[in-house]
Amino acid sequence: MDDEIIKNKVKEIFTEYLTLHKHRKTPERYAILDHIYSTKGHFDMDSLYNSMIEENFRVSRATLYNTIDLLLECGLVVKHQFGENVSKYERAYGNENHNHIICTSCGRVWETKNGDLFTPTQQKKIKKFTVHYYSMYIYGICSKCSHAKKMELHRLSQAQPEKTTGADKKQKKSKKNES
Ligand SMILES: [Zn+2]
Ligand SMILES: [Zn+2]
Repeated sequence: MDDEIIKNKVKEIFTEYLTLHKHRKTPERYAILDHIYSTKGHFDMDSLYNSMIEENFRVSRATLYNTIDLLLECGLVVKHQFGENVSKYERAYGNENHNHIICTSCGRVWETKNGDLFTPTQQKKIKKFTVHYYSMYIYGICSKCSHAKKMELHRLSQAQPEKTTGADKKQKKSKKNES
């Protein structure tokens, strides 16, 4: 789908949502929506805030949080919980289906396409439901982390030779109870 067509469509969806829920249609909210749909990939609140500042768009963090909440509610933005403390956002409409590969050690996230995971025919078999997108989370350890773990184990086994109990000095207990 063309980017401009997507942008127009999401604006329409957002307007519908704001009208239905009697929220104000402020230019800031539309600018945030437009900005999110101009960037691909995952973002968090800090990176979103910074990238808007970079484009000389002054917006308060409060407005940003408030708008993200609205966008989550109307399904234009999706929130991923990639790890205990890692939540990332991503545009939801017109975004190609993809899987997320998450390293549980360093928290890095990669995306892979899942085009043949779920065919259009299979999607049609889901009755009384319109599939917008789907995503799979694949958790594991990346090669960098597993290599680092191996190296660390190797280092530890080298650095700590078995303790020789004979060399241990026995400390004499000299407790004196004076009353
Ligand atoms: Zn890793
Ligand atoms: Zn993603």
